[in-house]
Amino acid sequence: MLYISTRGNHEPVSASRAILLGMVPSGGLFVPDSIPVLEEGQLRALQGQSYTGVAQQIVSPYLDDYSGAEIDACLACAYSSGNFSHPLIAPLYRLDDGIHLLELWHGPTAAFKDMALQLMPHLLSRALGKEGQRDELVILVATSGDTGKAALEGFSDVPGIRIIVFYPHGGVSRVQELQMTTTSGANTSVVAVRGNFDDCQGAVKDVFSDRELEQCLKKKGFTLSSANSINWGRLLPQIVYYFWAWLQLTQGEGERGATLERVNIVVPTGNFGNILAAWYAWRMGLPVKKLICASNENRVLTDFFQTGIYDSNREFRRTSSPSMDILISGNLERLLFAVSGSDGERTQGWMDELKKTGVFQVDAATRQALDRIIYAGWAGERETMKTIRETFTKYDYLLDTHTAVGLSVYEQYRAATADNTPAIIAATASPFKFSASVLAALRGDDMWLQDLDEFSILTELSRLSGVSVHPALQDLQGKTVRHRLVCGKGEISQKIMEILKYQGR
Ligand SMILES: *Cc1c(COP(=O)(O)O)cnc(C)c1O
Repeated sequence: MLYISTRGNHEPVSASRAILLGMVPSGGLFVPDSIPVLEEGQLRALQGQSYTGVAQQIVSPYLDDYSGAEIDACLACAYSSGNFSHPLIAPLYRLDDGIHLLELWHGPTAAFKDMALQLMPHLLSRALGKEGQRDELVILVATSGDTGKAALEGFSDVPGIRIIVFYPHGGVSRVQELQMTTTSGANTSVVAVRGNFDDCQGAVKDVFSDRELEQCLKKKGFTLSSANSINWGRLLPQIVYYFWAWLQLTQGEGERGATLERVNIVVPTGNFGNILAAWYAWRMGLPVKKLICASNENRVLTDFFQTGIYDSNREFRRTSSPSMDILISGNLERLLFAVSGSDGERTQGWMDELKKTGVFQVDAATRQALDRIIYAGWAGERETMKTIRETFTKYDYLLDTHTAVGLSVYEQYRAATADNTPAIIAATASPFKFSASVLAALRGDDMWLQDLDEFSILTELSRLSGVSVHPALQDLQGKTVRHRLVCGKGEISQKIMEILKYQGR
């Protein structure tokens, strides 16, 4: 299988090349040139297999330049019991008749990004060998908190790769900072940058376009890269768990079911990666009725699916679901390319408009194609908090803020359509990852929170809910801080050189 550019501006490349490049150098994203389809019999035959067994069958056709043994080895490293605290890796929790939560947060950093970031570094490491790249890869990540830790955990001690994470000094929570600075792994570095997140991200971007530094690193045998969420290597692992969820839902029905049971899939969405993976699962033969795209107050996607106009010119809002506070959803480009008949020129046109004016509009045929499979809605802060509180009261189940947006939008959908198709809602983070907001939702106000430090908030949430703190966050306070580097935003390249020199080869 080959990978082509959504903008028709690159020659087709192998999977390992697409993963190594991350995105098309002249703009655009890599997509597979065809989508493998599982026949009904193949789908039923997945029943009873392990997570890695299912994963092997879903990802293999997309990675035909990797051997079966290589894929098995990567999957075994990624989805081990050492990394995931639940034996099912991503268990499906039945909340009520027809409402199921797919818990994607049992990994090492308590959010769904682990599902991809535990596997992708291994795929990348092997891609280096396949592409004959002898340089060591240096992954740079600018983070506002969560992605940094997930990337550190994923890349820790992966051969041929170093990772350096930059975060704003004083700009992340105490828990997030400790999660990062206590990371082990001989190839990991963490640097606090004096400045805010934009300074941090801007400075890292500048490093990527610094040709002098690139040459200098090249001489020493290093190539820079990123673990960005638009890399195909991060999307592919996410397709697996939608099949996995369906298999759990339909377990035991295999023999009697004459037809495959259809499901609705609800995804709290930011950069459109997670829901796009669900779209691929549908195209591969998973029986899906509707994909429900849930946004928070940054509802640019809801408006787009309802009107056909994508308008990013609006006020950016900070919400209690920060991982969905996004106005440019990078992965939407892949869906647009697919539904417009793989027309690179048209996709390029839309993306150029977006870049130039912040707005683009799709035609009626494209809109119709989107409408057939996607329903979009959004939930405001009040509904989100209310959903957390009511879900806890009614079901004794603790939702995080992002998942609550998903459930809230699903309830709107069900009220509007009376569609009772069983639903799978992607639960994207542990509630303990966003304890202050969750606790405030349960108590109905956040005034008294100001007197508590973050660790007391974790403990209080655990006490109030009777749920134990996520293992990834439990023993943080007692861990040794291993990273103490700090630098100014103008000193990032210098810091990178120092780190690489000091670590040696
Ligand atoms: C990243 C993230 C999202 C959004 O996922 P996308 O793939 O960017 O749409 C939702 N919830 C949580 C907790 C996240 O970390």
